[in-house]
Amino acid sequence: MPLQIAIVGSGPAGCFIAELLSRKIEDCQIDIIERLPSLFGLVRAGVAPDHQGTKNVTRQFEKTLEKDNIRVLANLNVGPDISYDELKSCYDLVVIATGASEDRMLNIPGEDSAGVYGSSHFVGWYNGHPASHQNPPELKGPSVAIIGHGNVALDIARLLAKTSNERAETDICAPAMSQLDNSEVSDIYLIGRGTPEQSKFTPPELAELKALSAAVPVISNTRIPETPSSDLDPREARAKQMNLDLFREFAENASNPVLTAGKTRIHLLFNHSPVAVASENGRIKSLKLKHQAEQASDELALPVDTLISAIGYRSREISSVPFDTQQGRIQHENGLIEPGVYATGWCRRGPNGVIPTNRADALEISKRILADLDSGQISAGKSGRVAMDNLIEAKQLKVLSYQDWKTIDQAEQDRAQGNKPREKFLTEAEMLQVLSS
Ligand code: NAP
Repeated sequence: MPLQIAIVGSGPAGCFIAELLSRKIEDCQIDIIERLPSLFGLVRAGVAPDHQGTKNVTRQFEKTLEKDNIRVLANLNVGPDISYDELKSCYDLVVIATGASEDRMLNIPGEDSAGVYGSSHFVGWYNGHPASHQNPPELKGPSVAIIGHGNVALDIARLLAKTSNERAETDICAPAMSQLDNSEVSDIYLIGRGTPEQSKFTPPELAELKALSAAVPVISNTRIPETPSSDLDPREARAKQMNLDLFREFAENASNPVLTAGKTRIHLLFNHSPVAVASENGRIKSLKLKHQAEQASDELALPVDTLISAIGYRSREISSVPFDTQQGRIQHENGLIEPGVYATGWCRRGPNGVIPTNRADALEISKRILADLDSGQISAGKSGRVAMDNLIEAKQLKVLSYQDWKTIDQAEQDRAQGNKPREKFLTEAEMLQVLSS
């Protein structure tokens, strides 16, 4: 009797664990449950649309999803459609791999003003996520501030600073493309609370700022050390050194008016924390910043028209699944939520690392699952797919298969114009419409 497995989430974490379990457990049937009609989670909605090479990891995921012992149940939301208890009653083994798709709050006064967005919402908007398009951001005026010195902040700054030509081969969805092409943005502030050495940028992504045709990264009034601290491990020290070298180049740019003339300026500010947002007629007017090392009176009011906080993510709570509200992740012990239920990826360890980090994570969890199978803590016996199909039928849910997704996927590619790889559908209804036409 095959072991009946449900994996919740079709992003990198879900696809990696599916691939490992389908190979390592001799007799098993896996259902991958995805709340949207579209697949691949972070790869579709989070990875920058000008990083199509990174998005190509979906080809590897497709091979996994085409395996005989794996099927996809998309457009099925665990919580509202199928409860956590129902899920556990159907499957011998459940793995939650729902990532971290919610924005963390800055928790400063004025954060609720119009023109203030979290990075998940903003990135989801240009990446065509249906949730972001229910209330799309409005880019107004010349000045944008981005809080956070991580790679998500860099992605946003780069996409704002690119020209129409530089965005032409991306899959930025049409309404976002039109707003970006018509925006008046000329000054982008990347604001970090730490020192240059403490920033979380990775060097290749930081170096991409140098390659922009109509924008220049600049740093003013900041002492940039020649070398990083001596207590770092060699790999980290090398990366920090590369960042510091790039920062020094950016500082030279600031003193070269010929270089910056007529270009969008990407200002990197260090050692500053956001304190409050001031608004006029409900929309952000300026951002109050405090220098980390100075007195409260030394606050700086930066005039900004749009503010985006790129300070990391929280996982989405699923009704009845134990949740650590402080950390914003699923509650677990080394990946175990309760007997027979595990977590992997960002919902387990928080939003850090690159896509392959989730493979390492999935490998660790798969080893734990195999050990628990060996010791008899997990065993086959539940009716899995049969019980799930009965529930879906009883509740009259419109659940999509992998083939349905491939039809939507092809329709998005077919309607793309110019050099765009695809034109995404922006609502669940539009995706479902493709299947009924
Ligand atoms: P991140 O790398 O953790 O950076 C978050 C930034 O927000 C840090 O600078 C952090 O400062 C700052 N921050 C946190 N709370 C703050 C607060 N209350 N006030 C002010 N600043 C605050 O997160 P991320 O940029 O969201 O990226 C998530 C993960 O995805 C990372 O591992 C990243 O490398 C990865 N990613 C990779 C790529 C790529 O490889 N191309 C692209 C995008 C994302 P502190 O350091 O002081 O905490």
